[in-house]
Amino acid sequence: MNDANTANTKYNVAIIGSGPAGFYAADHLFKNKEHTFHIDMYDRLPTPFGLVRLGVAPDHQKIKTVTRVFDKIAQNPNFRFFGYVEFGKDIKLEDLKKHYHIIIFATGAQTDRTMNIPGEDLKGSHTATEFVAWYNGHPDYKEREFDLSKETVAIIGVGNVAVDVARIFCLSEQELRKTDISDYALEKLAKSNVKEVYMIGRRGPAQAAFTNPELKELGNLENADLILDNEEIEPDLITKNFLEENEDKQTNRKLELLKEFSSNKETNKNKKLHIRFLLSPIEIAGSDDNSINSIKLTRNELYKSPDGSIRPRSTNEKIELDVGLVFRSIGYRGVPLPDVPFNEDWGVISNEKGRILGKDKIHIEGLYATGWIKRGPTGVIGTNKTDSGETVKCIIDDIAANKFNKPQVVEPQSIESLIKERNDKFINYKQWQKVDQSEIERGQQLGRPRLKYTDIEEILRVAKS
Ligand code: NAP
Repeated sequence: MNDANTANTKYNVAIIGSGPAGFYAADHLFKNKEHTFHIDMYDRLPTPFGLVRLGVAPDHQKIKTVTRVFDKIAQNPNFRFFGYVEFGKDIKLEDLKKHYHIIIFATGAQTDRTMNIPGEDLKGSHTATEFVAWYNGHPDYKEREFDLSKETVAIIGVGNVAVDVARIFCLSEQELRKTDISDYALEKLAKSNVKEVYMIGRRGPAQAAFTNPELKELGNLENADLILDNEEIEPDLITKNFLEENEDKQTNRKLELLKEFSSNKETNKNKKLHIRFLLSPIEIAGSDDNSINSIKLTRNELYKSPDGSIRPRSTNEKIELDVGLVFRSIGYRGVPLPDVPFNEDWGVISNEKGRILGKDKIHIEGLYATGWIKRGPTGVIGTNKTDSGETVKCIIDDIAANKFNKPQVVEPQSIESLIKERNDKFINYKQWQKVDQSEIERGQQLGRPRLKYTDIEEILRVAKS
């Protein structure tokens, strides 16, 4: 039993999830001057980095360079990586409690929200999350089928994920070949018939969730004309009043950009990308063989809700767009973890500033959350640094108050032996680096940043070679 609260105590920390939030939490802990932390990071996949590897768009290579920071964190002698070890299956909460003072969940948001409209289950109706995972080479999604013989695609939602999906459809084969998109997705997208893409927002242009740099990219695509409806990009009266009363540089710039792009002449590029506003899907219409023919939408107007936010409501006007594929991109959602309290309404672990709360709303000592599974799917990669900082501050305060889990066994070798017993295929950070190096070398031969391995068995084979 180890319950001393002294500067000499080495605190064992388990971090479940190896995405940005997990790595930033490790970084904050290592930077703490008062205490020494021994950190074990777990991931159910053999590869680390979560959405940086499997979510960030393959043509956004610069964003992915953040993995160099994570590599540095992983070099700390008090850091171990256990890849291909699944929480709840290979290792359970009770095992972790036996070995660690602090357990941090950083599992992200792995599923998506549904629209609850008729036709959502038709063959060509997909989630953006699965498409993103597919093109990024997520081992669990590589077998997914998307019928890219269709010419027109509707993407519901106008957040940055919708922008990523729209852009991937609009890039030329040559552009895709410069990225680390998975090889099977590259082959399919190169042969795709998709020529027209609609992004559909339920509110107006001022409320669009995409950010200005991402919008700029859409206005400057080599292979696709951006087409906007002049009436739809004009903010309504409520929004205009709001913008007059509240200084909002980003939104004003967004509106300016949309106006600029709307005046660009169509240049007969290969593809057309439409961004539509003030439209909500009400039905996805299919044919006898279960495939999609069209999407039916209702025109919305905006109103100010009692909490001051500007919300959409349906008018009597309906429109129908002929489309063959629909992707809903209306936000990710966290998945509950075995034995960890979950807030079903919000799709996050029940927590306060990262302290995990039991049924009685009291902190369960030693248990913490960070990242999307703590706050929901918002913000950019860097947001997780601040978020993990908040969680780590709670940890440090709680250690000072002697509030942490009191493990029975503190020798790091003990948990490793247990994992070996349960699943001896797990891989460590050095082994992951072999995979990393091999992917980069394979990519270099093709003039690409990397060629990912997408099959678990193959990843394990390269890691252990
Ligand atoms: P998001 O930014 O929350 O956008 C979700 C979109 O779905 C919004 O347009 C939202 O409209 C719409 N929506 C929600 N429910 C809907 C419904 N029932 N019907 C129609 N539309 C609906 O989510 P996201 O795009 O998944 O992105 C998640 C986070 O990752 C964001 O913080 C994003 O910025 C970040 N991200 C960043 C990058 C980047 O930096 N390049 C790339 C990808 C993702 P309302 O606004 O009306 O609710």
